[in-house]
Amino acid sequence: MNRLRVLLAALLCLVSAGCGESEPFPEGSTMDRIRDRGVLVVGIKFDQPLFGYKDRGGRITGFDAEIARLVARDLTGSERNIRFVETVSRERENFIAQQVVDLVIATYSITPARAQQVTFTDPYYYAGQDLLVRAADTRITGVRDLGGKTVCTAKGSTSVDRLSKEVAGVDLEVVDAYSVCVPALLRGRVDAISTDDTILLGLQAQHPEAKALRLVGEPFGREPYGMGIRKGDTVFRDYLNGLIARWLRDGEWDRAYRDTIGLNGNDVRAAQARP
Ligand code: GLU
Repeated sequence: MNRLRVLLAALLCLVSAGCGESEPFPEGSTMDRIRDRGVLVVGIKFDQPLFGYKDRGGRITGFDAEIARLVARDLTGSERNIRFVETVSRERENFIAQQVVDLVIATYSITPARAQQVTFTDPYYYAGQDLLVRAADTRITGVRDLGGKTVCTAKGSTSVDRLSKEVAGVDLEVVDAYSVCVPALLRGRVDAISTDDTILLGLQAQHPEAKALRLVGEPFGREPYGMGIRKGDTVFRDYLNGLIARWLRDGEWDRAYRDTIGLNGNDVRAAQARP
């Protein structure tokens, strides 16, 4: 009788995929390789507070980091089995193709052009492109005011594409990482920084003194974030999609949000950001 019960439990475990760590992965799959290796290697931003940020103690924090830890926990049994590799916007496709990382979780918008080179999961977050300006500068109230202004943004991003295609007469300062834009804005060398509101909120929060910077708050364009993996690895993609769906159901998504971007106390955003 007892043996029957064990057998039944094992069967249930297999069909419901509810046995956590011991869940078998298809042999030779990316999940199997990572579990064998015991470490998940993740490409992430290091300079975007609230999403992907290396703090003074060397810990990587932010929503993307939390998502990465959840993947590591499911794959290896512990969120500590993870190695983060700094991946700036323009390096994401390269790092995936050259297998420098297992996956990229780096405010990475799903676009048809990128999907030619990498495979994306379903969206796990929705951001919107916005503008960050000096608080005292009242000239810029939206994207329509950018003609003749200098705007800083990052190479290889959808932000630079949208600005160059949709905003006439804008002067672009294109850099490697958004954090480089901040001193330029504070010193008046550029008039605005433009990228996802998620990133701008984090950069703004780094300069609380006299509320130096102002988020314009008129998003133009929706940015669905996906995890990027090696082109064609649909088995890994399906597995990751299953995880995203589960986190949305079991509260892990909300917890990750609350602990990172939600720290700003802006709850309205969660409704827009949740897939
Ligand atoms: N989400 C946009 C992108 O993937 C802008 C932010 C970034 O560069 O990471 O290009």
